This record gives sequence, C-alpha cells and structure tokens, in this order.
Amino acid sequence: MKVLVGVKRVLDPQVKARVNADKTGIDLTNAKMTMNPFCENAVEEAIRLKEAGTAEEIIALSIGPAKAEETLRNALALGADRAILVHTEETLEPLAIAKVFKAIIDAEQPQLVMVGKQAIDDDCNQTGQMLSALLDWPQATFASKLEINGDTAKVTREVDAGLETINVNMPAVVTVDLRLNEPRYASLPNVMKAKRKPLDKKDLADLGLDTANRMTTLEVMEPPARAAGIIVESVSELVNKLKNEAKVI
Ligand code: AMP
Repeated sequence: MKVLVGVKRVLDPQVKARVNADKTGIDLTNAKMTMNPFCENAVEEAIRLKEAGTAEEIIALSIGPAKAEETLRNALALGADRAILVHTEETLEPLAIAKVFKAIIDAEQPQLVMVGKQAIDDDCNQTGQMLSALLDWPQATFASKLEINGDTAKVTREVDAGLETINVNMPAVVTVDLRLNEPRYASLPNVMKAKRKPLDKKDLADLGLDTANRMTTLEVMEPPARAAGIIVESVSELVNKLKNEAKVI
C-alpha cells in the first residue's frame, strides 16, 4: 500500500504569533517554523503502518515556499521514503490545497491519504474534507485510532459525544487527531540519510490548476490583553467579588 501524507510548514506553536504591520496576517519574518503538529501524527502513523508491513511506501507532500523543503526533509528523516514539494510563495486556501493534493494523487495513486485534522496557522479543518469530495473517496476525520484490514480502514473518530468507530473503503482520506499516536523524534543518522532521499520539486503554475483564493482578509487582530488578576484575602471576599463585581454567581 502506498500512503501519501500532507505535511504543512507552520509557525512553531511555542513562538508567540505577531500580527504584521499592515494587519493582513502573521509576521513570519525570521520566525521559527516547524511541521504542523497534526501532520507529525499523520507521518508517525504512516511510519507505523510501514513498520507493521501494511504500507510499502510513504510519500510526504507539502505545498508552500521553498523553505518547506526543510519540513519535508524532517518527514524524510522521520521515515517517509520520498517527498514532493509543490512550490508557491503564495498562501493558498484549503480548496486550492485540496486541488493540488488531487493532482498529485491522480499521478501517484496512493491507497491512503493522511492529513492533519487542521493546520494550526489557519485552523481551517477543511483540506481533508474538500479533498475527499474532489476525489469522491470516503473520508474519516479526527482519527484517534487506525486499523487497516485488507481494503478497509477501521477508524476511531473523536466526536463531541465521545468516540465513534467507522469502517471506510479504501482508497480513503483520513484526517488525524493528536491522540492517534506519540510522534517520534528523528535520530541524527536519519537526519543525515534524509538529505539523500528523493525530493521532487514542482512549480504550482505547471500544474495548470485554478488556485485563486476566494476570500479576502479584512483585518487580523491580536487578542485583547488580559487584565491582571487579583489576590483575595478570604473565601468570603472571593464570594462577594464573584457575586457583586463579576456577577457570575
Ligand atoms: P487545514 O484544512 O488548513 O486546517 O489543514 C488540514 C491539513 O491539511 C493539514 O494538517 C495538512 O496535513 C494538510 N495541509 C493543509 N495545507 C497544506 C499544505 N500547504 N501543504 C501540505 N499539507 C497541507
């Protein structure tokens, strides 16, 4: 089985995001970037499928700037076999990303596509769902457990009411949640080996797709600063403040 995994380069979640001067987005100048955490879970799961003998080949796909090569090299160091970078310096919306995925999937014919449930930069949670519609493939979103049985994927999904387990026929699109697994770290020898693994670079324009954005960002704002807390002397003072000042009890 061939597995294709989506790997997005995002601002490191440990770094404080700052709005850029013209308030159109986040200032990424010299910012520390990393692999989207949910994509780390997708890569990890693909590696586990390969280690179990279920997957034969893992392809990591990223659509983004030239520097996304670093993120793909990380996926290769973790255990992906080869990588594809579809290069664009533009920020694309999920529909455009899903179209690019479809073009690559049409050429590569994987049986399983795994993406993160969401990218932590745009928090869209749309790419996997749109991709499954474009491909007309089954989808299993928010996976916290995955089991492959022949041509079927048994997926436990994290839903509001708890856990739901479904079977989907493959080929299928699975979007993964953080509880799916504990991603590993790349060892130094594997980081070195990853430099020699194949990484195919394509230009977005050469795919001939309509990737025009449909939304216009009006303004990006930082959340309001939180007011400082206070220390109360006694429980009765706390109750009094909650009742008469905050009016929450
Ligand atoms: P989103 O719908 O933007 O929240 O993204 C959901 C998932 O789609 C991410 O976790 C990635 O696995 C995949 N994805 C989104 N954008 C990209 C991208 N530019 N390159 C590779 N994968 C992506």
